[in-house]
Amino acid sequence: MTASPPQRYLIALGSNVRHARHGAPAAVLRAAVRALAAQGLAVEAVSPTIASAPLGPSRRRYANAAAIVAGDLMPPALLLLLQRIEHDFGRVRRGQRWRARTLDLDVILWSGGVWRQAPGATPALRVPHPEYRKRTFVLTPAAAIAPGWRDPETGLRIKHHNARLTRRTPRPR
Ligand code: ADP
Ligand code: MG
Repeated sequence: MTASPPQRYLIALGSNVRHARHGAPAAVLRAAVRALAAQGLAVEAVSPTIASAPLGPSRRRYANAAAIVAGDLMPPALLLLLQRIEHDFGRVRRGQRWRARTLDLDVILWSGGVWRQAPGATPALRVPHPEYRKRTFVLTPAAAIAPGWRDPETGLRIKHHNARLTRRTPRPR
């Protein structure tokens, strides 16, 4: 029997730009999941894709989803892999947030708990993702596949963070 891979991750996927080959944002996310598997990660679950409102000044609607992946990579190596996939999908980093993007892949939770880089280390990385608890577009798909996953910093499960957020008056992202 083979042991299951030691590191497990909850990943958030987002896209708000068509891709020349893959098509609309929802199809970009499906292609991104295939890319994760092609890179040797075990894709254990994929959420339905949701459509969410544009973020900041960008006027394009997003497609968002979440996935659980497992493998041998420690968090910084996983982030480098995710950034390479983003790059392969044509995302250009110009140091500016909230712009149109073909593909955004974020590490939300890690089975090992909390990861903090030394200051100045690259790539900058913090797990749990510092912003995810405020983001409906992360929590809604995440709750569909990982409701019981506990956030090591708050002690709350994904479904509780999701309920907390959606209970309140909806607000702009
Ligand atoms: P955002 O995802 O916030 O819209 P970016 O994808 O451009 O914006 O990410 C900005 C930076 O966030 C990246 O350079 C990356 O090194 C850093 N980062 C820190 N923690 C994480 C994480 N958990 N997942 C993904 N990126 C992270
Ligand atoms: Mg990102």
